Amino acid sequence: MPSNALFYLTRDDMPLVSHADGIYMWDTQGRRYIDGCSGAITCNIGHNHPRVKEAMVRQLDKVAFSYRTQFESQVALDLADRMVELTRGELDKVFFVGSGSEAVESAIKLARQYFVAKGEPQRSRFVSLRPSYHGSTLGALGLTGYEPLEAPYKAITLGSIKVPSPDFYRYEETDIDAHIDAVLKQTESAMLTAGPETLAAFVLEPVGGASTGARMVNQAYLDGIRALCDRFGCLLIMDEVLSGMGRTGEWFAYQHWGVAPDILAMAKGLGSGYYPIAAMMARGDLVETVTDGGGFMHGHTYAGNPLACATGLAVIDAIDEENLIDNTREQGRHLRARLDELADKYGCIGQVRGIGLLQGVELVRDPTTKEPFPADLNAFDILTRLAKQRGLLIYPRRSLNGLRGDHVLITPPLTVTRQQIDDIVELFDDSLAAFETSIAGQEAS
Ligand code: PMP
Repeated sequence: MPSNALFYLTRDDMPLVSHADGIYMWDTQGRRYIDGCSGAITCNIGHNHPRVKEAMVRQLDKVAFSYRTQFESQVALDLADRMVELTRGELDKVFFVGSGSEAVESAIKLARQYFVAKGEPQRSRFVSLRPSYHGSTLGALGLTGYEPLEAPYKAITLGSIKVPSPDFYRYEETDIDAHIDAVLKQTESAMLTAGPETLAAFVLEPVGGASTGARMVNQAYLDGIRALCDRFGCLLIMDEVLSGMGRTGEWFAYQHWGVAPDILAMAKGLGSGYYPIAAMMARGDLVETVTDGGGFMHGHTYAGNPLACATGLAVIDAIDEENLIDNTREQGRHLRARLDELADKYGCIGQVRGIGLLQGVELVRDPTTKEPFPADLNAFDILTRLAKQRGLLIYPRRSLNGLRGDHVLITPPLTVTRQQIDDIVELFDDSLAAFETSIAGQEAS
């Protein structure tokens, strides 16, 4: 019997989940859904993966939990080594945690402790983008540039200096290059005003997720931000909680541009939904400074426990041995081409953006003027419900009072086949047709 004691953002028409396999999920009424968004862009290797289940059971048979101040575990050592390899050695220290927010908190604290240990205690401020999402705990929320989430907590969060995120859809300048130039100038000016000597780190998502509908950086922007950080002596933190672990067609999104961060946060795809595991990775010299200064004053009980690490290792093995990064590139191109066709067919699609199997679709009232739907229409929710009624899960985000449009993310597991992409697109096509009818009806009434 459904409980009403659960205290989540939930609603009455929520189905009860029954089971899942690959890209499919079923509810207890026997309805099948295509998981077109990997839950919350999490189940990168799909559901019910035999290799991961076997690895977890094997680990459970040995030891599920050991505490890091009492034992090392071979799986934690192996996973850390493996992750360093994935960054091609650019980041050579790994700190395990349990969620994306914890990974971002760890990054904030490592940056801060690094400057304290280095004798620059005045470096305590962070710069981040608007819009952005970095997590729900108070430090990570302080970096987040998303007004509805920030508003109730402003008085008690860390806070950060917010600078504009590059926007390749709505910009005032003559072209993208001029836009990036303007955004970088604004960023430089905000950092100068704040006082470069007070800055600890600049934080960004190379490819955004929920908050931006897969907005991306480009080479000039990332080069520019790296140069500003180096000039002002602050660190560059990248939040790849969502874009890491193969999602964009590279192990980490930053590898598309060859601009490495000093600290990296990752989560979702690492445990792929099988077990909560997340990580912060950092340059070894930063960690050494902190270690020499007395050690990192941070940690969580479940950090790096053997079951979590065995899960992460099995997920990486699956991505590697099943060539899921290549598949992500190939199916990502196919998905993008099919979504671009839908953008030609439906006026409500303003822009399709993203990379690999992280694709965002921005919804607009008028594609010529790029006018967003009114915020109170909840266009994102209407489309997401229509898709769910048709057996397709997509990930929604609302518009911000006309500042930019509603959008949805289409981010299936990296195991998706060409035929399954076509099935997703067919259901999405049908949902968009129903959406336009529904919107026309609402606007006429
Ligand atoms: N950063 C980014 C970029 C995210 O997408 C998320 C989760 N949506 C987080 C941080 C927070 O992760 P978690 O929900 O696991 O705490």
